[in-house]
Formats: sequence, structure tokens, C-alpha cells
Amino acid sequence: MNNIAEQLNLAYQNLTEKWQALPEAKIKPQLLAVSKTKPVSAVVAAYQAGQRQFAENYPQELAEKAAQLSSYADIIWHFIGPLQSNKTRLVAETAHWVHSIDRLKIAERLAAQRPAALGPLKVLLQVNISNEPSKAGIAAADMLQLAAGVSSLPQLQLKGLMAIPAPGMSEPAFAAMAQLSQTLQQHYPQADELSMGMSDDWPLALRYGATMIRLGTAIFGARDYHKE
Ligand SMILES: *Cc1c(COP(=O)(O)O)cnc(C)c1O
Repeated sequence: MNNIAEQLNLAYQNLTEKWQALPEAKIKPQLLAVSKTKPVSAVVAAYQAGQRQFAENYPQELAEKAAQLSSYADIIWHFIGPLQSNKTRLVAETAHWVHSIDRLKIAERLAAQRPAALGPLKVLLQVNISNEPSKAGIAAADMLQLAAGVSSLPQLQLKGLMAIPAPGMSEPAFAAMAQLSQTLQQHYPQADELSMGMSDDWPLALRYGATMIRLGTAIFGARDYHKE
């Protein structure tokens, strides 16, 4: 078995063990394999080990990988990175999910550019839950306003929330996200997804009701940005 397959199996084992050990029953989260900066061959290795959900941060990289892997028709692509207006088309045409919606303008562009044949794009609102200056995401107080705008766009489906806590702040951030998710679901019952937890803090995210955890390093190893 190759290393990626081993790491992936280990991640699923850990997830199952920690999930079964939770003090109260929760939905078992989906595990997204974050393949940013990793070659197509790494995605294929994970695919052959059974992984189907992959997440990317850069529009160009997502579009290139999706094109190269178009014969793997059951891959589900999640876009989780910052999104500028001039890159929305790449994402609208390739992603199944976008986790990083934090402006209505970006949502409107995605909606306008979404090919009808692909069906609605599933989206999450990104919340700047640790209130970090100059970080992506809306303020918690603005959630319902953006949710109303997004849910008026028929080419998008509002599915829930996403957050990236500040370093060392995961627990209060996940607790706050769990509350916000409840508030959102009171208005939009179908928006019950909560994307939170990365290689370092996913067990904590699990305790606070994450439905999608995003693992890069734990599956593919450390990223080398110098090779880009
Ligand atoms: C890179 C990235 C991840 C994966 O991080 P790891 O620490 O490698 O697991 C998850 N979510 C987002 C938004 C990322 O940018």
C-alpha cells in the first residue's frame, strides 16, 4: 500500500474511533482530502484508495486538476480558498461545492456563470469567527443578511457554514460556529453543513458538530510551496 493510502486509512480509522467515543451522538462528518499544491498523481492515489471528495484552494489549480481528472466522473470537488471576481468562472464551471462565500457579489457571479447542465452549486458561507483583521469571512452578525442574498439565487444552494479559526483559538471558535449554525438552520433548515476542522484540530471540531472536516497534511504530508 502506498503512503497516501495508508495515511488516508489511518485518518478514517481515527475519525471513526473519535466519533464513536463522542459523549453524545453526532452525524459522522465527511472527510475532505485537501489536495492543494499536490500533484494529480496524489489525487489519483487517494482516489484509488477510495477517496471521492477533494478540496482545492486555488481556482486555476482546481480547474486544471478537474480537467485532467475528468474521466474520474465521481470525484466531488470542493473549492475552499479565497475567491476573487476574475476567477469565479473557473470555479463555477468545475466545483460541486464552494465553502468560501463571503460577499454577495461573488455569489452573484458564481450564479450567473454556473452552467445549467451542472445543476445548482452548493455553497457555504465563510465566517471570520475569530474576528481576525484582514482575514476572509463575514462577521457573525452579517450571516443572515448574506444568507438571504445567497438563497435568492436559484443557481446556488445554501448548505451551511465554514470557518478557519485563528491559531490557538479553535475551541471557542468551534463552539461559536455550532451556535451560529443553529441560528442559520432556524431560518434555512436545509443549511445544516458545518465545514470546520483541519489536520491539527479536527477532533475538537468533531465534538462541536462538524459535518465536513478538511484534511491536507494528515493525508498528503507537508506542502512544499517552493516548488510551485
Ligand atoms: C490548506 C487548508 C486545509 C488543510 O490544512 P491541513 O492543516 O494541511 O490539514 C483545510 N482548510 C483550508 C481552508 C485550507 O486552506
